[in-house]
Amino acid sequence: MNLEDYIRNVPDFPIKGIQFKDVTTLCKVHASFKESCDRLVNHFKDKGIKKVCAVEARGYVWGGVLAYKLGAGFVLIRKPGKLPAETFSETYELEYGTDTIEMHKDAIEDGEKVLLFDDLLATGGTAKASCNLIEKAGGSVAGIAFVIELTGSLHGRDKLEGYDIISLVKIPVEE
Ligand code: AMP
Repeated sequence: MNLEDYIRNVPDFPIKGIQFKDVTTLCKVHASFKESCDRLVNHFKDKGIKKVCAVEARGYVWGGVLAYKLGAGFVLIRKPGKLPAETFSETYELEYGTDTIEMHKDAIEDGEKVLLFDDLLATGGTAKASCNLIEKAGGSVAGIAFVIELTGSLHGRDKLEGYDIISLVKIPVEE
């Protein structure tokens, strides 16, 4: 099955010039959703993953499934002000401005192996900030998984050097 066939490209969303990769068309079909989950589970099943962390909101669609199938706990990474207890926080650069994400301080035990999931790798800023949160909390990032990796001029992988990265579909970014 070619998972790329199930991803919808939406030009000029949310702003002009962005080619938005819509994964709702992949996860609404059982066969493609199952295939994407199974491929990620198979890659990480013998790696001793104790926690899966995912970034809201699309990250949660796969993140919970991965945690369940890998026999791991699930940890929510959220936008500021959404988590009720004490949090670690990371601020990172966007093309215009900055963004912040948070995770509960007690979400991960010292030394636990953690899998980070997000639906898409673009510049790598979100994933790098997520790795920093996991490491602040004492976790060890055993892998980073994406459904889609945008390749070419964004150089997302460079920002994540040293980590084990898997992406199911690689899509080149046009200049
Ligand atoms: P980045 O931090 O640049 O790697 O961006 C990754 C985050 O932004 C992910 O959570 C994606 O869901 C979202 N994102 C960035 N670019 C796109 C795109 N072209 N299509 C869909 N989502 C995107």
